[in-house]
Amino acid sequence: MTAEPINPIPKVADNRETPEAVTTMVRHVRETWQEVEPYTPEVAQFFYGMLFTLAPEARDFFPIHMDVRSGKLVRAIVNILQSVDRPDDVAPYLVQLGRDHRKFGVQPHHYEAIGTALLAAVKRQLQEAWTPEVERAWAEAFTIVARSMQDAAEADEYPPSWTGTVAEHRRLSWDLALVRIEPDRHIPFRPGQYLSVEVPQRPRLWRYLSPANAPRTDGSLEFHVRAIDGGWVSRGIVGHTQPGDVWRFGAPMGRLHVDRDAGRDVVMIAGGTGVAPLQSILDDLGRFGKNPNVTIFYGGQKREDLYALESLRSLASVNPWLTVRPVVEQDEGLSGFEVGTLPDAVTAHGAWHDHDVLVSGSPAMIRATVSRMLVAGTALDQIRYDPFTIE
Ligand SMILES: Cc1cc2nc3c(=O)[nH]c(=O)nc-3n(C[C@H](O)[C@H](O)[C@H](O)COP(=O)(O)OP(=O)(O)OC[C@H]3O[C@@H](n4cnc5c(N)ncnc54)[C@H](O)[C@@H]3O)c2cc1C
Repeated sequence: MTAEPINPIPKVADNRETPEAVTTMVRHVRETWQEVEPYTPEVAQFFYGMLFTLAPEARDFFPIHMDVRSGKLVRAIVNILQSVDRPDDVAPYLVQLGRDHRKFGVQPHHYEAIGTALLAAVKRQLQEAWTPEVERAWAEAFTIVARSMQDAAEADEYPPSWTGTVAEHRRLSWDLALVRIEPDRHIPFRPGQYLSVEVPQRPRLWRYLSPANAPRTDGSLEFHVRAIDGGWVSRGIVGHTQPGDVWRFGAPMGRLHVDRDAGRDVVMIAGGTGVAPLQSILDDLGRFGKNPNVTIFYGGQKREDLYALESLRSLASVNPWLTVRPVVEQDEGLSGFEVGTLPDAVTAHGAWHDHDVLVSGSPAMIRATVSRMLVAGTALDQIRYDPFTIE
């Protein structure tokens, strides 16, 4: 840590941001972050040093073994600051994030400590490029974000977190497990949402998982977890989860959903365990007789990756509004399968005008699919995915 004096994040008045002022503010943040970004490890190290000086108890929000130079949190915060000029996208996300962060016991002074540490770390890197105007831009952008999250946290009527007990852990394949949870109290999620989850094998390492079922009367949740190579939490879940384990959950998040009254058909595009939130939506639609027509493209490298195919096909066999199109990258000569990547398969059918498009999968798959669809002529506002989770 440096011996420099600590300047608290400047106070910013309420509601003074006009759209033009917000555009200028975000431009300042973007331009200066471009200069700082190559030094993210140094910035992150300074950030955490100052944060834990200002608020030592905040150390408990983070994993026991933390890589302070990875800069994941710093990048995530700056990503959001650079998005405050898109209030339609960012505002609902901040509401969900503010609720979700209640699971840590985050208090208002922690937001102030995070803002102070972030600005100090960026200032230290920028040196003379840190002008009063730049400082105001960073302070205002951070204040917008922190205020929205705190307002949402204060207004939330639900508990800060939920617990649930593992009732079943079943291996679906060598690297994939189904885990069924019986929560201690009802978790109010919507079909298609995801939750942050902490498991006893990996304390304080929160990861997002998507229930694969619609809300049930008994409240139980089913998760499909794929063990990622070198993954801390997913390997712990797939390899070591036991019935009776207690999991902790943050507030439900996410914006994947189908509007049954919109009068538009739907195309869903799922890669890997990204099929789970779409299964949750389909499970919910299955309760109704009449629905928009839904086509789901479900893709993987090879047939054995498509673990949910039988389940999707059996749903389609009793619901004429649902069409399932499996896609594999390796040509195994299977009939009824399209061969290629998901973006290839989806765009081979055109731009899907007049459809709502839901995309769910790894960050790379979402990025590739969305960009190919835009090139094919699909409008951005037709496409829904959970944008801020893209690394
Ligand atoms: C909105 C959302 C919903 C999700 N829902 C599910 C779900 O229902 N089921 C599920 O199994 N997972 C889901 N995930 C992924 C999950 O949250 C974890 O990121 C994943 O399990 C890896 O965590 P880990 O601790 O094992 O890996 P880490 O220790 O965090 O990462 C280890 C290495 O793997 C890489 N990596 C991390 N994630 C992936 C990935 N998906 N593909 C390839 N490489 C990766 C990292 O870059 C790193 O190099 C979801 C993620 C998001 C953002």
